[in-house]
Amino acid sequence: MTQDIAAMFDKVLTRFDNLEQETGMLRALAERLAQSEAVWLTIGKVIISDLELGSVLTTVTQVINENMNVETGSILLLEPDTQELTFAEILRGDQKQFAALRLRAGQGVAGWVAQNKQAVIVPDAPRDARFFSAIDSQTGFQTRSILGVPLIVADQVIGVIELLNKREGEFTNADVSLLEAIAAPVAIAIQNARLRQQLDRQFSQQTDLLQKIERAKREWEGTIDAIEEGVLLVDEQCRILRVNRAFASWLNTTPAVLVGNPCYRAVHGLDAPPSHCPHALVVSGQGQARNIEYEEPHLRRTVRFTAYPIRAQDGGIIGTANVLKDVTLERRLQAQLIQSEKLAATGRMAASLAHEINNPLQAIQGCLDLTQANLNKPEKQTRYLTMATGELSRLATFVQRMLDFSRPAKGDRALIAPRALVDDVLALTGKRLSQARVRVQVNWNDPLPRIKGAGNQLKQVFLNLVLNAMEAMPQGGTLTIAGRVVEENGRWVAVSFEDSGVGIAPDDLKNIFEPFYTTKPDGTGLGLAVSHNIILGHNGHFTVESAVGKGTTVTVWLGAEE
Ligand code: ADP
Ligand code: MG
Repeated sequence: MTQDIAAMFDKVLTRFDNLEQETGMLRALAERLAQSEAVWLTIGKVIISDLELGSVLTTVTQVINENMNVETGSILLLEPDTQELTFAEILRGDQKQFAALRLRAGQGVAGWVAQNKQAVIVPDAPRDARFFSAIDSQTGFQTRSILGVPLIVADQVIGVIELLNKREGEFTNADVSLLEAIAAPVAIAIQNARLRQQLDRQFSQQTDLLQKIERAKREWEGTIDAIEEGVLLVDEQCRILRVNRAFASWLNTTPAVLVGNPCYRAVHGLDAPPSHCPHALVVSGQGQARNIEYEEPHLRRTVRFTAYPIRAQDGGIIGTANVLKDVTLERRLQAQLIQSEKLAATGRMAASLAHEINNPLQAIQGCLDLTQANLNKPEKQTRYLTMATGELSRLATFVQRMLDFSRPAKGDRALIAPRALVDDVLALTGKRLSQARVRVQVNWNDPLPRIKGAGNQLKQVFLNLVLNAMEAMPQGGTLTIAGRVVEENGRWVAVSFEDSGVGIAPDDLKNIFEPFYTTKPDGTGLGLAVSHNIILGHNGHFTVESAVGKGTTVTVWLGAEE
C-alpha cells in the first residue's frame, strides 16, 4: 500500500517535473513569440514606411542589437550579375574597412548560406572548412562562432545576415528562428528599397532625357527663328508642324497660332492647295526638291518658295521642309536694272530712231506738198494722200513698237514665235545697222516651234545682242541671225547672232556676263548681265564662241514648247 502510494507520489512528481518543464518551454515560446512580434512591429513599419536602403539597414542593425547578444555582424547583399556578396552594413566596427571587400559566389560561410539558401550555425569558425579567414586578417577581428541566415524574397536569395561571436554561450536553434524572423521582412524591405532605388534612377534618367529633349527643342527653335527666310515644316496632310518667327511675322502673328493649321491657308489664304504648290508636288512626286518664284498676294510679297522632302527611316516621304525667301526687293531692283539698261540701249539708238521717224515725216511732207501743187488734179491728189496715209501708218507702227519696247517689262508669259521677236528687233534697228554698214542676213529654219516667254523681255535680249554685234564691227560687216531646233537633253530653240567683228579674247570671255564689265568708252556693261538674268528666268541659257579678229557667235537657248 505504502509502496503504491509511493509509486503514485513518484508519478505525480514526475508529472509535476514534466509540467514544470512544459511550463518553462511554454514561457520560452511565449517570450520568443513576443520578441519576434516586437521585431515584426519594428521592421514591418520600416517595410511600409521607409523605402531608403540606408535607413532600412540601420533599422535592422538596431533590431539585431536589441534582440541578439552578439559582438558584431553584417548584412551582405548579392550582386545579381556577378553573384558576389558585398558588405552593405556592419553592425559594429568600421564600415569603410569593408567597403571594397566582396565574397565570390560560394566563398566563406556567408557565400555558403547564399548558395545553399539555408541558415547555418558554425560553432567553431576557424576550424570550419567554409570559413574565409582573409577578412579577419584584414580587420584584426577574431571570429569564433557564426550564425548565418539567407535573405530570401520570392524564393530568391538577395543577401545574407551574418552574426559573429555570441556573447553568452553558443548560437542556438532559437537564435536561428529569431534571426530568420528578422530576415524575412528585412529581405522584403531591402528588395523594396532596391526597387525604389531603381525607379528613382529610371525617373532621374527620364527627367534627364526630358531636359535634353527640352534643350534640343529650344536650340532647334532658336535656330529656325534665327533664319530670316520663312521656314515651315509640313506633314503629308498639309498640316503645319512647325513654323519660324520670320514667316509668322509676315502674317502679323506668332508661330504657335499657325501650328496645326493647313499650310495652304497660311501661305496662300486658300481652302485647298493651289496647283503650283511645291509641297504637294514633292509629296506626290519622286521627292526631289521643288521650287517656284511668284508673287503671293496673301503674304504681300514676291517669294522664292522651295520645298524639300522629309523622309522617314524607310525612305518614304512624310512631309516637307519649306523655305520661303522674300525676293520682293530683289525683284524690284532687278526690274529697275532691266528697265534702265533698256533705256540705255534705246539711247544708243536714239540718232537712228530720229532718222526712222524723220524719213516717213519727210515723205508725208512731200506728199502734202504735191497734193497742194495739184489742187485741180483730183486723181493725183488721191494718189499722194494715199501715199501719205501709208507713211503715217508705218510711222504709227514704228512709234508703237518703240513704246512697247520701252515700257517696263511685265514678265507675263505667252507662246511666242521667236522669228517675230527677231523681226521686231530688226525693224527697230534696221536704219542704225545700215548706217553702220552692217549687212544683216537671216537664216531661219522655218517652221520653228514656239517658245513660252515674256516677249518684251526677250526682245530686249535680242536687241542687246544685235547692238553688241554692231558695236563689234566698227568698220561694218555681216550679222547673221539664225534659228534652228536642237534635240539635246530636251528640245531647244537656238537663236544665234553671228558677227564678223573684233572677237573676244579667251581671258575676257568669262567676264562678259558680269555686271558693269565693258570694254567700250560709253558702255554700261549691263547688256549681257541683264540678258543673262532674263534668259535664266526663262529656264534657258547662253553659249558664246569667239575668235579674236574673226568674230563672235552668241546663241540663246530656249525650251521649245510646241
Ligand atoms: P556693253 O555693251 O555696255 O559693253 P555688254 O554687257 O553688252 O555691255 O557687253 C559686255 C562686253 O562684252 C562688251 O563691252 C564687249 O567687250 C564684250 N562683247 C559683248 N558682245 C560682243 C561681241 N559680239 N563681240 C565682241 N565683244 C563683245
Ligand atoms: Mg551691250
